Amino acid sequence: MICIPITARSTEDTISEMSLASKCADIIELRIDYIPELQDAERCIEESLKSKTKPVIVTNRPEREGGKFNGSEQDRLRLLQKAIDLGADYVDVEYDSIKQIVRRKNSKVIISYHNFKETPQNLSKIYSDICQHKPDIVKIVTYANDITDNIRIFELLNTANVPTISFCMGELGHISRILTRKFGGLLTFASLERGKESAPGQLTVDELSKIYHFKNINKETKLYGIIGNPVSHSMSPVIHNASFMEKGLNNVYVPLKVSNIGTFIKEYRKIDFQGFSVTIPHKESVLPFLDNIEHTAKEIGAINTIVRQDGKLTGYNTDCMAAITGLECGLGKNGDTLNNKKISIIGAGGAARAIAFGLKEKGCDITIYNRTIERAEKLSNDVKCRFGRFEEINKLDSDILINTTPIGMFPKTDETPVPEKVLKEGMLVFDAVYNPIETKLLQDARERGCHTVNGLTMFINQAAEQFRLWTNIDPPVELMNDVVMKMLSRLKP
Ligand code: NAP
Repeated sequence: MICIPITARSTEDTISEMSLASKCADIIELRIDYIPELQDAERCIEESLKSKTKPVIVTNRPEREGGKFNGSEQDRLRLLQKAIDLGADYVDVEYDSIKQIVRRKNSKVIISYHNFKETPQNLSKIYSDICQHKPDIVKIVTYANDITDNIRIFELLNTANVPTISFCMGELGHISRILTRKFGGLLTFASLERGKESAPGQLTVDELSKIYHFKNINKETKLYGIIGNPVSHSMSPVIHNASFMEKGLNNVYVPLKVSNIGTFIKEYRKIDFQGFSVTIPHKESVLPFLDNIEHTAKEIGAINTIVRQDGKLTGYNTDCMAAITGLECGLGKNGDTLNNKKISIIGAGGAARAIAFGLKEKGCDITIYNRTIERAEKLSNDVKCRFGRFEEINKLDSDILINTTPIGMFPKTDETPVPEKVLKEGMLVFDAVYNPIETKLLQDARERGCHTVNGLTMFINQAAEQFRLWTNIDPPVELMNDVVMKMLSRLKP
């Protein structure tokens, strides 16, 4: 179930927001503590309960538990008691106040515990203490300081024997809000729109429904996610969730902001994630924590995909194949192949590494140019190819030019890594940057009669290959492409 909290400051606004929220929520939470005046709060309870069309939880959270109510404890509890006496469907009473409330048959009591600082180690003790007061529903909400804090919430939900609401607040707690149904949680909270959140890390009802298909998640749902730091702007959750939906798979894909990769892998082996995407900065550092690494990925020394099979984690690199397929398609238009092509790669980071190893296998003659010369030298030693100084780009002469630096990426879209004069008619130019899709480099190249391949091709190819590795099903490539195009068009200024 999805519960939308109403955080309006007057009775009239509360009623109008309740009516809007009732269209998409299963339950409404009336946050009485957001109403500044006591008398207004009292009237708001009466009027809102009269006009409700969905079940209502009445909450009057004190400041000490992260709420807005700053009056006396006596007044706070009087409002909660009034909600009970008027037969509110549910009333949320803080654990330390429950003894002062008179319960009635028509109103169920949620006994709650909130911790805005951390997810304490003694969650099961807190749970059993709350249960001694015979709650209709237990609510335990904590703050995630690390992505692994969510695991303790999932374990708590798995062992709960009373209907329970439990999740972590904060950005690092997002996944516990999304995945709560998988572990048996009763409901999640979502804001009506951005800016109307009642707690840190609350997603909007649109995000929960349209990206994560929250109501389809159940105990059988298979879990996938992207490991990175940062990950909040990754397009992968939108692409993979839309693709799972398109293929009718009961899967969900979530962002996983990871700081310590070793601890993350150890802890997340406990729950049944079936696969991960891996992005900056963990593509290389994750390797020692996996059980197997596929041959090409081992040679490259970096992975971007993990598949879990029979409890074992295997790492793959789909960036390499994604770029090579893109380049082969670009050449294929002229019936040409990569073998023996003279190639210049600008940049010596993760993308350059994956591409250079793939091209070496295809028999290409590669030169790597990088701002930090030592990095170019190191990659050229590993791949066994040439390297050059960044300034030498001005003189480069090759069949294929590949940019793997972020130069030209949004918002600095008027920048390009090479002067126009190096772009010769008939050359193939590939830019790994995909935002914008048509970079300045690609525009210049097209104007000078070069063939071009954009970074979106590589991006979609690597996601499609991940999808295939996880599901053994042909990926919906066209849909993936449409989803990314739509997202990129929204990012434009
Ligand atoms: P990375 O490992 O951080 O490497 C970045 C590379 O760019 C390094 O060689 C760095 O040189 C160079 N660089 C950065 N800023 C520069 C500047 N202002 N001038 C000159 N060189 C500069 O990153 P990555 O993972 O390889 O990604 C690089 C780019 O490729 C990003 O734009 C990313 O979005 C894109 N990419 C696209 C795809 C796709 O699917 N299309 C996949 C992966 C990456 P130094 O060594 O001197 O720092």
